[in-house]
Amino acid sequence: MPTTRKVIIIGSGPAGYTAAIYAARGNLAPLMFTGVQSGGQLMLTTLVENYPGFVDGVIGPDLMETMRKQAERFGTDMIAEDVTRVDFSRHPFVIRSEGATHEAETVVIATGASARTLDLPEERALMGRGLSTCATCDGFFFKDQNIMVVGGGDSAMEEALYLARLGRKVEVVHRRDTLRASKIMQERARKHPKISFLLDTVIESIKDPKTGKVTSATLRNVKTNEVSEHLVDGLFFAIGHVPNTAIFRDQVELLPNGYIKVAPGTTQTSVRGVFAAGDVADFTWRQAVTAAGTGCMAALEAERYLEAASSQA
Ligand code: NAP
Repeated sequence: MPTTRKVIIIGSGPAGYTAAIYAARGNLAPLMFTGVQSGGQLMLTTLVENYPGFVDGVIGPDLMETMRKQAERFGTDMIAEDVTRVDFSRHPFVIRSEGATHEAETVVIATGASARTLDLPEERALMGRGLSTCATCDGFFFKDQNIMVVGGGDSAMEEALYLARLGRKVEVVHRRDTLRASKIMQERARKHPKISFLLDTVIESIKDPKTGKVTSATLRNVKTNEVSEHLVDGLFFAIGHVPNTAIFRDQVELLPNGYIKVAPGTTQTSVRGVFAAGDVADFTWRQAVTAAGTGCMAALEAERYLEAASSQA
């Protein structure tokens, strides 16, 4: 068994890297599990224009690489493995990866959330090239163009309203004839002159992976089976997110929607010494900058916890 770490950080999006930068600068020598696919959701975007500090924007993967280097510069150890199991019922906490078993006095969970997609085969080639899961990140690229939003919940309404300020028109595609969104959000979207609705409709395929750019979507009405092709420049999935909490299910308290429950205004989970930062505990704001902010909070809270524990010892 290796020596017990003061802090282990699980996950490597903006929350994880920021927690690592603060913990490393606080002399806590953090160990970070970046996951096999490091960097989080920003690895799926192109230009990020709303992260402060970059006048001309920054490419998502470049931003994450910069954060990684910054965390490494102050001495964060990184393991490019997924954590497979944790045991928070004993202290020091136990963290298992494919390679080994580790122990930590505190843990920062920053495993994020994954945007749900339709699992169409062409998504891989088009994500970040007209296909997006974040209107505030990518909407700006579709000024005066044809935009389509998939989903019938509050996020879909919110994204459609946001995108309607930018695009030429916004078509909302929803698989049922009733929207899930709250009445007030539905009303706002329905009243907007640029927004139209295609209900009982699903996306069959998206063109054009060959050119590496979204050009159209083939839709099918599920009641009539009628198929139609719509010209689209920007296609936004707003069909919900799935928090990456599977390995924490029996370890910390989760909210009914699967996100980690934290004490209001903090990153403290139901287990003392275990903190959660970023999208894994946030289904409201979900921005890189808010994730970074809570990553900072988690590291500082871990530091305070360790100080309090050592003064009691
Ligand atoms: P959501 O409420 O779960 O809605 C997801 C939508 O996507 C639903 O309409 C669902 O269709 C559709 N969908 C799911 N999987 C699909 C698939 N495979 N194919 C096609 N459609 C699919 O998620 P959300 O809109 O992201 O909202 C999450 C939570 O945040 C909610 O509690 C919401 O109220 C809240 N929120 C609030 C605001 C606000 O108040 N301003 C803004 C955003 C989010 P069905 O309806 O058929 O299931």
